[in-house]
Amino acid sequence: MKRTQLFIKTQKQAPADEVSKNAQLLIRAGFVYKVMAGVYAYTPLGIRVVEKIKQIVREEMNAIAGGELIMTALQRPDTWQTTGRWDDEAVDVWFKTALKDGHPVGLAWSHEEAIIEMMKQHITSYKDLPQSVYQFQTKFRNELRSKSGIMRGREFVMKDMYSVHTTQEDMDRYYDEVIEAYKRVFDRLGIGDKTFVTFASGGAFTKFSHEFQTICAAGEDTLYVDDDQTIAVNEEVLDDATKEIGIDKASLKPVISAEVGNIFKFGTEKSEKMDFTFTDRDGTQKPLYVASYGIGVTRVMGVIAEMMSDEKGLVWHANIAPYHVYVATIGDVSVQAETMVAELEAAGVEVLYDDRDERPGAKFADAELMGIPLRVVISERTLEQGSAEVTERITGATELVKLSELAGTVHQQINKV
Ligand code: ATP
Ligand code: MG
Repeated sequence: MKRTQLFIKTQKQAPADEVSKNAQLLIRAGFVYKVMAGVYAYTPLGIRVVEKIKQIVREEMNAIAGGELIMTALQRPDTWQTTGRWDDEAVDVWFKTALKDGHPVGLAWSHEEAIIEMMKQHITSYKDLPQSVYQFQTKFRNELRSKSGIMRGREFVMKDMYSVHTTQEDMDRYYDEVIEAYKRVFDRLGIGDKTFVTFASGGAFTKFSHEFQTICAAGEDTLYVDDDQTIAVNEEVLDDATKEIGIDKASLKPVISAEVGNIFKFGTEKSEKMDFTFTDRDGTQKPLYVASYGIGVTRVMGVIAEMMSDEKGLVWHANIAPYHVYVATIGDVSVQAETMVAELEAAGVEVLYDDRDERPGAKFADAELMGIPLRVVISERTLEQGSAEVTERITGATELVKLSELAGTVHQQINKV
């Protein structure tokens, strides 16, 4: 990809009213555009990161037999009336509007009831089960405060998955599989070592739910973690959870964290309210066991921007970086650069080639601000040695690499984590 074909420009300063570090960095580096507080658009650069996060989540959900679908952003009131959640008293984040004929509609803040309602049409017998479906969808939430950049959007992308089972045992088994799948997701996103499966507030069916909380100074939650980092409890349920697991509250230390995922067992609670039943082997009608599993896709991107950045800008993990390599030139070597870029791309390397008529210093600064894992520079001097200079964003380490070995070296570097 040529830089001149990307419409974005990097900026020295973020908008004066932007207080969050992730949004400041992402706006300056050209990944997001702020429409209003809590409402951000994603540029061609930003969408590549969103899509890479989604693809990792997708692969792990597919691996546990999740089926991808897509629900709608507009929802009917009656979908939510059966559970009492159309009411603004019960759900305080609704955006509501109306059709031309006056019929009220809601903008989806969740798809729990909507997906169950759809599944009622398809799942009738024990032979149809178990099932698990998921989607990536925009959620609309009229959040009171939105000062955390893309970590708290008024519209944001969530992955939400729902599984349906004939028995509690089967739901419990699948729920544990999802926990393992989520751990793989956060490992692949590069934040596995900072992300904890956490006891959090439950619902009518279970005392606790599980949150995935990532240690992050910009988070809005407080987590209590033990010394071996094997137990984590959300402050909101500290007393109850420590009593339940039988540990001393004083053995846990507080850290600030961000909720990147939340998984719940509804059990039969929602099914009973929504009349979501199946015919069992013995011919009787029984309510289904349902669990739900969320990941905040765009929040994760914000958390990573917060955690993996320095004074020069963003530092993406190679698995989710918009491009693997930023190519810049010194002097008049554009013909050689184009050949090199074509060879790298043919070898499967994702390249952003800075073909602008700019000072090398400005190009290097952009490569750093955008957080592209590797910078490759050629000049007459490097070409005399048949080489290019490769610099790693995270360490700043530079080496001269033969052009014939460049693609191999790049692959090695981006796969080493
Ligand atoms: P919070 O407590 O942060 O408001 P929540 O518990 O209401 O979040 P859930 O309904 O559990 O959120 O949604 C699932 C996931 O979606 C959350 O774990 C989080 O990662 C993400 N998420 C929730 N609200 C937002 C938001 N306003 N902006 C971005 N991501 C969000
Ligand atoms: Mg939650």
